[in-house]
Amino acid sequence: MSLLDPPVGEPALWSSWGELERDAVKCTRCALAEGRTQVVFGAGSRDADLVFVGEGPGAEEDRQGIPFVGRAGQLLTRLIEGIGLTRDDVYICNVVKCRPPGNRDPLPEEIASCRPYLEAQLDLLSPVVLMTLGNFATKLLLDTKTGITKIRGQEFPFRDGTAVLVPTLHPAAVLRNGGTALAQTRADFVVAKRALARALGEGR
Ligand code: URA
Repeated sequence: MSLLDPPVGEPALWSSWGELERDAVKCTRCALAEGRTQVVFGAGSRDADLVFVGEGPGAEEDRQGIPFVGRAGQLLTRLIEGIGLTRDDVYICNVVKCRPPGNRDPLPEEIASCRPYLEAQLDLLSPVVLMTLGNFATKLLLDTKTGITKIRGQEFPFRDGTAVLVPTLHPAAVLRNGGTALAQTRADFVVAKRALARALGEGR
């Protein structure tokens, strides 16, 4: 068992958004609490069929309290708009809700501490399609060691087959790599859009 495994036998801690957000915004489960300006809980529609999970807040997100509002976030917004949706149609959150100092990678114990909040968000959302943005969210939610470049753009059954998970590159990586990475990511968004249309068309 690794720190990334789901909490075994842990009962559902929150049954409403109100209780969940109330506890999350004052969380001190890990050391990230000490350096944050605020908890970046999540944003968008709580009725969304399409959900995005990133890695963790950066400086701008920590300042504003909203996920994906920096440069990578602006690209994510354009990618969402590229499939005919807006940020208000979807829900966006992260694996860790507090900014890791200096934008370092989140540590396994930080991911494990924050995981109950993410699981509760997903319970309340019941997404139809979930896109994981980058390695951290993908490895955590698919419980895989396979790197993002190998599995991006594929559909995986998620949450007992009630949802489809489509991994894609992290927008920050797309900004760094441009060209092919951007084309691949656009294609992944089309995969997600088609999965959504198929699932909703099938009467969900
Ligand atoms: N990168 C992430 O993974 N999440 C954010 O909210 C912003 C940048």
